Amino acid sequence: FLQIRGIRKEYGPVTAVQDVTLDVAQGEFLTFLGPSGSGKSTTLYILAGFENPTRGDILLNGETLLATPSHKRNIGMVFQRYTLFPHLSVGENIAFPLKVRRLPKAEIDAKVRAMLKLVRLEGFEDRKPAQMSGGQQQRVALARALAYDPPVLLMDEPLSALDKKLREEIQHEIRRIHQQTEVTILYVTHDQEEALRLSDRIAVFSKGVIDQIGTGPELYANPATRFVAEFIGDSD
Ligand code: ATP
Ligand code: MG
Repeated sequence: FLQIRGIRKEYGPVTAVQDVTLDVAQGEFLTFLGPSGSGKSTTLYILAGFENPTRGDILLNGETLLATPSHKRNIGMVFQRYTLFPHLSVGENIAFPLKVRRLPKAEIDAKVRAMLKLVRLEGFEDRKPAQMSGGQQQRVALARALAYDPPVLLMDEPLSALDKKLREEIQHEIRRIHQQTEVTILYVTHDQEEALRLSDRIAVFSKGVIDQIGTGPELYANPATRFVAEFIGDSD
C-alpha cells in the first residue's frame, strides 16, 4: 500500500534520516517511536511533502508520491501544536480542505456535521478555536484532517502538549476513529506507553534508521538490539 524505499535526508553536514525502508499495510496503525533527533519528524515531513528526500522514493499504491506537491497528496496531518486557523470557526476550519477541493456547499455542510459527530463535538460548530480547550482543539484538528477521507493520516506528537487526562481521552478517540474508518495512520511519539496502546506495529528509530519494527509484544519479547530493549522495556 505505502512503501518507503531507502529514504535519506541530509541538511548540509547533518544527516537527519540515514536510510529508512518500510512497508505500511492499508489500514495499519504504525507508530514511529524513538528519542529526540532520531529522524521521526523528518520522515513524516517527507511523506507529507514538506521536504524532499536526498535520495529514496515513496510509493502509494505503486506510484511515486515525490512528483506530487504536498497539497495534492491527499494525506491528512495533525501536528503537535494546534494548527487550526484562529480567525475561522470550528465549522469553517473543518470545511476548509473541502472548499479547497471545491465540493458543493450542501455536501460540505453534511460532511462538517458528520465530522463533528465523529469527534464528539456536536454543537461546537460556531465557536472559535480560542474558546475551546486544548483537547477540543486537537479533536477539531483531527476532524479537519479526516474530513476529505485521506487514505493516510500523519500525526506528529499530536497529544504531547496535553495533560494526562486529555491525552488518554483523545487516544481513545483516535483508536475509535481508526477502527471506524479505513484510514492508515503513521503516528510519532516518544511515549512508549502511548505507542504500545495505539499501534498495530511500532518502528523504533535510532539515529536516522529503523532499528527494529514489529508489534509491541514482539519488540518487548525479542528486542533486536540493546537500544530497543532499553527503549521499549520497563523504563524504571
Ligand atoms: P524529536 O523527538 O525531538 O521531535 P525527531 O526524531 O522528530 O526528534 P527530527 O526532527 O527528524 O527528529 O530531526 C532529526 C535530526 O535532523 C536532528 O538531529 C535535527 O537536528 C536534524 N534536523 C531536522 N531538521 C533540520 C533542518 N531543517 N536543518 C538542519 N537539521 C535538521
Ligand atoms: Mg519530531
